[in-house]
Amino acid sequence: MNLPTDFITRTKLLLGGEWEAFAEALESASPVSIRINDSKEGKLSYPKVPWSDSGYYLAQRPQFTFDPLFHAGCYYVQEASSMFIEQAFRQYADGDVRVLDLCAAPGGKSTLIVGLMNGNSLLVSNEVIRSRANILSENITKWGKPNTVVTNNDPSRIGKLHGYFDFILVDAPCSGEGMFRKDEGAIQEWSVDNVRLCKERQQRILADIWPALKTDGLLLYSTCTYNTEENEENVQWICEELGAEALPIETKAEWGISPSFREDIPAYRFFPHKTKGEGFFCALLRKTNTEEVSHKRKKDKGRMSKNIIPVECKMYVKDNELFTFCPKNDVWFAFPIRLYDDLSLIKSQLNVISEGICLGEVKGKDFIPNQSLALSTGLNTEAFTTCEIDWKMAVAYLRKEPLFLEGQPKGYILLTYRRMPVGFVKNIGNRANNLYPQEWRIRSAFAPTEEVRII
Ligand code: SAM
Repeated sequence: MNLPTDFITRTKLLLGGEWEAFAEALESASPVSIRINDSKEGKLSYPKVPWSDSGYYLAQRPQFTFDPLFHAGCYYVQEASSMFIEQAFRQYADGDVRVLDLCAAPGGKSTLIVGLMNGNSLLVSNEVIRSRANILSENITKWGKPNTVVTNNDPSRIGKLHGYFDFILVDAPCSGEGMFRKDEGAIQEWSVDNVRLCKERQQRILADIWPALKTDGLLLYSTCTYNTEENEENVQWICEELGAEALPIETKAEWGISPSFREDIPAYRFFPHKTKGEGFFCALLRKTNTEEVSHKRKKDKGRMSKNIIPVECKMYVKDNELFTFCPKNDVWFAFPIRLYDDLSLIKSQLNVISEGICLGEVKGKDFIPNQSLALSTGLNTEAFTTCEIDWKMAVAYLRKEPLFLEGQPKGYILLTYRRMPVGFVKNIGNRANNLYPQEWRIRSAFAPTEEVRII
């Protein structure tokens, strides 16, 4: 690996006698790990990621694209070190919480956190870059948790929700030193100047979002880089300039996690020669300064709507008495009723990309069910005719090819693969129209001959 000379000099100073082992680890292959969606899947028999209840290592990288259960949101392919944020959340977050994942695309940490939250808690998953916000929304939809809103806003805009959030995750854009092994591009973009620019940008992001955290609320700051400027120095800056204390997270010695480079600042570091994963840094902070709380809310349009949801559509959702149903033009959404006021507030202040369960669209006398409903953990499968398909047909479905379903009635049919919902078709007799979202379809022309099974 052709590392920048300045990076070598600086990192040798940090690591001292560990440099040789570190440099050697950078030459080895990246471990492959997945995290299962425990609302959809049970435990697996693969080796565990020690700091995550649902993380597993795979022996090699399979072709995830051709596993229908990957598209069904049964698991997420996530680098193992970053799963450590689970410990911070488990050890400190409690009860019903409002959580913001500020820099969330493509969705690794959001899908992890929402799995740890109870159903009365709300996750706002935000991404500032629009194209990335769409990818985030796709991954959140596949994960299927109804208590989630995806937004596309600059941190300064969300910062106006004064004192609103109990827990904020800032997985900051950084110089990416911890990704050198996985991503050649990160090496090309690295420079001492860029480290400085990243540090300044991180401070801007943190200052902008800080007012949205309530007093005593928690902020988890993380990066995938090694230098102290973007890590310990920023944690110190948060404590001194914004008003916070850094909190210890319990770890086990056998996990191989390294301590902070500053004795006075509790923080957690992952190095590839010590832990099975990529480079990662995180610190948990509790806000100590007080802020004025003010939430301006526009009139609640959803609840005032005169539109009436087609009666059978409520049946599409399990425990539908726990949901409120609201339209946007002809498209209907379901959202947990206990979080509805929160949703109204967020919609009045932020640019929302997706929310809760998108049920589908009314077209004349027809109601076209949406993919979000098929993949939601709130789906009532009994409300639909289901048809179990094999792997070949599931891949054809995910490529958005028309299908032929033998012996099935006409109308909307929920397809399942290994008993897991993958999406809807409209069976019109001689063929079934494929309702899989065009922008999600498998584009690769490659066709493996054997079934890809990971879980
Ligand atoms: N948390 C994500 C996950 O686990 O999948 C990875 C996030 S990545 C490290 C950082 C994200 O910050 C990127 O999606 C990037 O687009 C976003 N970003 C870039 N500039 C930003 C800014 N000025 N404010 C907020 N987010 C920004």
